[in-house]
Amino acid sequence: MENVVIIGSGIAGLTAAIYLARAELSPLIIKGNEEGGQLMLTTEVENFPGFPDGITGPQLIMQATKQAERFGTRFMHKFVRGIKKMDDYFVIDVGDAKVEARAIIVSTGASARWLDLPSEKAYRGKGVSACATCDGAFFKDKKVAVIGGGDVACEEADFLTKFASEVTLIHRRDELRASKPMQNRVLNNPKIKFIWNSVVEEVIGDGKAMTALKLKNIKSGEVKEVPFQGMFVSIGHVPNTKFLEGFVDLDEKGYLKVDSQTLQASVQGVWGAGDVHDHKYRQAITAAGAGCQASLEVERYLSEKK
Ligand code: NDP
Repeated sequence: MENVVIIGSGIAGLTAAIYLARAELSPLIIKGNEEGGQLMLTTEVENFPGFPDGITGPQLIMQATKQAERFGTRFMHKFVRGIKKMDDYFVIDVGDAKVEARAIIVSTGASARWLDLPSEKAYRGKGVSACATCDGAFFKDKKVAVIGGGDVACEEADFLTKFASEVTLIHRRDELRASKPMQNRVLNNPKIKFIWNSVVEEVIGDGKAMTALKLKNIKSGEVKEVPFQGMFVSIGHVPNTKFLEGFVDLDEKGYLKVDSQTLQASVQGVWGAGDVHDHKYRQAITAAGAGCQASLEVERYLSEKK
């Protein structure tokens, strides 16, 4: 019987593990398929305190993993399929085995939705990104495109005007989905241009960096190449909570519902940490903070049970 199992090995889960391991609770992390989480897809992280010269996302994860290991965290390379609640413990199904635990922290994160073009994948980190807050500063005085028409796409377009010489919002319809105030903000920003009724067909580049987008107007059928040095895909995120359906409460978009103070989920003994419940801030530092919060709650819960 494990004291506590942490599901997910991104920065939220690793931070929880550091705290729980230091509290001598010997946590077990079940790593999942996207080991290290979204930071593994991020190039430079310049806003995580303590790294004045920046650190790459994978390096940050590697360091946090070492730190968690140093205090006795154990890791399991499995993918959780489902969880069952027993009287006062849980049975976690990892396919070919079952893991029993007194407490669980769910830190499975969310995955950015992509356009699913092979060329998009090829230029990820070479001009293509899904996070303006993370990567915007690398596009100083460059021409960038933002794909999407929701609140996040508008927010990202607005944010990118701080760095880029020109930002073009490319949307598949001729009307934004974003809220009115957000629409007004982008429509009134002289640095933001719009390409309506259009979808990206291909990311074009020289192998090292992207240089243009091939766009198709879905009304007229016209296809054209427009030069851009960056593309920010902002078409939503998908929380990784499929395995929790029917076990704990999820919101209408599939995010884990947690108490805003304690981060406890609808089932006692289960906490959430990071992007799996937070679709608002989605930062490495806020996810790490949530991991710390959840771990302190778990510590208290387990000591009260004893
Ligand atoms: P949304 O689901 O609101 O918007 C996604 C956008 O991407 C839509 O415009 C959609 O187009 C477009 N899209 C989806 N799939 C594709 C595709 N394959 N190709 C091209 N375009 C595509 O997601 P967001 O991430 O913007 O927002 C998530 C939630 O967070 C929303 O509820 C939002 O309101 C909320 N939020 C609120 C904020 C605020 O109020 N200040 C700030 C940030 C987020 P279409 O419109 O045609 O469907």
